[in-house]
Amino acid sequence: MRELLGGKGANLAEMARIGLPVPPGFTITTDVCTYFTANKKSFPSGMDKQVRQAVVTMEKQTGKKFGDLKNPLLLSIRSGARDSMPGMMDTILNLGLNDNSVKGLAELTGNARFAYDCYRRFIQMYGDVVMGVQSHDEHEEEPFEEVMAKLKKERKVVEDNDLTAEDLQELIKRYKTLVKKFTGKTFPEDVYEQLYGAVSAVFGSWDNERAIIYRQKYNIPHEWGTAVNVQAMVFGNMGDTSATGVAFTRDPANGEKVFYGEYLINAQGEDVVAGVRTPKPIAQLADEMPKSHKELDAVRKKLERHFKDMQDFEFTIEDNKLYMLQTRNGKRTGLAAVRIACEMVNEKLINNKTAVSRIPAESISSLLVPVFDTTKLKNAKKISTGLPAGPGAATGKIVFSAARAEEISAKGIKAILCRVETSPEDLRGMIASEGILTSRGGVSSHAALVARQMGKVCVCGANGVVINYARKTLSAGNAHLKEGDYISIDGTTGDIFAGQVDTAPSEVNQVLAGKLKPAKSYTYQMFETIMQWADKYRKLGVRTNADTPEQSQMAVALGAEGIGLCRTEHMFFEGDRINYMRQMILATNTKERKAALKKLLPYQRKDFTGLFKAMAGRPVTVRLLDPPLHEFLPHDDATRRDLAEVLGVSPEIISERVKALHEENPMLGHRGCRLGISYPEVTEMQARAIFEAAATVLKAKKPIDVFPEIMVPLVGFEKELKLQVDVIHRVASEVMEAKGVKIKYMVGTMIEIPRAAIRAEKIAETAEFFSFGTNDLTQTTLGMSRDDSGTFLPLYKDLDIIPQNPFATIDQAGVGELVQIGAERGRATRKNIKLGICGEHGGDPTSVKFFHKAGLNYVSCSPPRVPVARLAAAQAALES
Ligand code: ADP
Ligand code: MG
Ligand code: MG
Repeated sequence: MRELLGGKGANLAEMARIGLPVPPGFTITTDVCTYFTANKKSFPSGMDKQVRQAVVTMEKQTGKKFGDLKNPLLLSIRSGARDSMPGMMDTILNLGLNDNSVKGLAELTGNARFAYDCYRRFIQMYGDVVMGVQSHDEHEEEPFEEVMAKLKKERKVVEDNDLTAEDLQELIKRYKTLVKKFTGKTFPEDVYEQLYGAVSAVFGSWDNERAIIYRQKYNIPHEWGTAVNVQAMVFGNMGDTSATGVAFTRDPANGEKVFYGEYLINAQGEDVVAGVRTPKPIAQLADEMPKSHKELDAVRKKLERHFKDMQDFEFTIEDNKLYMLQTRNGKRTGLAAVRIACEMVNEKLINNKTAVSRIPAESISSLLVPVFDTTKLKNAKKISTGLPAGPGAATGKIVFSAARAEEISAKGIKAILCRVETSPEDLRGMIASEGILTSRGGVSSHAALVARQMGKVCVCGANGVVINYARKTLSAGNAHLKEGDYISIDGTTGDIFAGQVDTAPSEVNQVLAGKLKPAKSYTYQMFETIMQWADKYRKLGVRTNADTPEQSQMAVALGAEGIGLCRTEHMFFEGDRINYMRQMILATNTKERKAALKKLLPYQRKDFTGLFKAMAGRPVTVRLLDPPLHEFLPHDDATRRDLAEVLGVSPEIISERVKALHEENPMLGHRGCRLGISYPEVTEMQARAIFEAAATVLKAKKPIDVFPEIMVPLVGFEKELKLQVDVIHRVASEVMEAKGVKIKYMVGTMIEIPRAAIRAEKIAETAEFFSFGTNDLTQTTLGMSRDDSGTFLPLYKDLDIIPQNPFATIDQAGVGELVQIGAERGRATRKNIKLGICGEHGGDPTSVKFFHKAGLNYVSCSPPRVPVARLAAAQAALES
């Protein structure tokens, strides 16, 4: 009954129902809150009668009396919305004490110090929360704290606990004076006045600014309201036979099935959280209070059997008697989420469908990243933080150029490439480095994109880091490092450390690389188990975006069923190729261009051969040349001079051609199929390389099946595709005839311009498949540059104009609708047209779920995201 009772109230009732020791109490429902808000802060008629009846029941259950002078019943008043909501009212403890009943309590317990401690806590909480005695300047001390600090100074004591009963009586007097001075009102002595004051404050807090803002942010309806839990107090602060604590039924950090938590002897609940004293680990309770520890351990098992999930609970021990105060599903790390789900299936607490649905898809990736050796991290010095862009941990020597990274890594020295920003020219250096650190650029910058694609550790946009290429220095705050110094970066958190911190590759990767036996790795077994379950339920195919045999192999090991996007341009940077590429681009006529292309052909053919072998018959989607040509050109004088020498022309000619190729807006310029249309010989060379490679593997001694899908980028007009497809088909027949083989292949297009989605019906006449290029489709639909939107996107998120970064999670209403339109219209022409997506969104769980609903055949994502996509796809299927 979470909706009516709130999360806390429902679970308290549930615990009581299954026989756990919960202090008696009752819940005023969320409906009353709604009434209260709608009716000028009044209560529904009849409520007072019910409240008083409930109190009488509690009196019977506890043998105490509310407001009694001899044996007073004290109450805790706790708010509790449907979902836990920070920003709501704090709990008020010890309600029901006044100047008279406190004396009764002191006498009854024979513990004056305890009684007056309860009373001063009550005045403090009630005064703060209900009567508003609080500072409104965060730099000022809280008024009650100030009074307390002054008294402690006068009494020359350090800890609150060192104040005597007499001291506390003095403190109470001063607290009351403070309340009077602050509010002009006297502190209420009447216990029902106290009770209604507290209940009204809880309901009132539903409408405070903090709570409203929180609800807006998380889309919580205002009409939900909060419940109020009124509960008999139990006392963890009654001496050394009493304690209070918080615990988890399993370790929330690694998921291990151990009792995990902490407690304080002789304390009330808020002391544990407030950090006034340092709590002890729960294991120690077995020595200090063996009976309670045993009881708690039994409770722990019962909670899991009932709630069927890991629980986070609060308890109090009053004079050796255990009470349960709260339970809820515990927050956990990704690793713990996986482990707990797996083990709960083994324990038959849940079935594998529940396990698959429950693990946040993202968390599977935490099983795959290298990690810092936690023992080493303690001594490391954190110097700054950036955006976590490529998860995992990396350590190495600082280098400031890609060339230097290659140089030292060739010698077996680990490098961290530190750049203000990266560009395609840095690619080889990025591959050679352990990790990448940039001081500018967001999570979709080149550095971040490549890092994700390659599964590289990356921290980007670390604004606090100043990189000076000329001096070869990197500073952050008062840390000054230079080239060759060690640095360590954590791409999971964004933390940057000076010095060397040891790392270890994930066990899953070690197993997949054959370096560790599966039986030796529990992490790997869990990974495999979850993935098998996921594959059983998912409908979406999962492919990968990969350009090299190594990447593809890793992706296949992680479960990729094909390549959804092979970017051919990455193939043009290595070794001599870049020179031929540049020669091709700088050619002033077709003859020169063909000569350069002829030299590139064998390289491309070799690359594709490797890729086809690695994929062993799985479909491989190859995208023809896409980026604006200037990305390949030399931008500094030295490289231009070198190139001039290689090509045997003057540096001036190079500079002139580079200038001629300059574009104001390359993203919308001469790129994509526009290149292949201007220079059909480029398309021809690429198609030839693909088909000849296919022929090679088909005719090899041990023939390997091959299925290329050639993809034309940036098509907006039917004719564009037609022109390119004609070239491809012609080359295909030429190669097949020359080699005497039959090659199965398909020709299709990217849908990455709104016009293409809208004209999909026509385009599908030529295209045998569509792959939605949601990166460009987002850029062109929103008219927003992915690389420049960092300046205003954070504001847009704050203002709720766009709830999420549209380059990370697909804008369903806009870009998403175009995807749906494209899919529908494509299918209208070609019923069985194959539909996929290959943007960054292919690895984003929320987007994957959308693509499932849109009815696509597969998503394609970077290799390390493949398991995430498999899990998200299974969740989508189970949800629907
Ligand atoms: P939160 O939602 O912030 O955790 P709670 O309502 O759980 O707030 O109350 C905070 C703390 O107050 C609890 O952890 C517990 O230690 C203490 N507390 C709440 N109710 C009682 C009670 N009936 N007896 C003793 N302590 C209580
Ligand atoms: Mg709590
Ligand atoms: Mg594109």
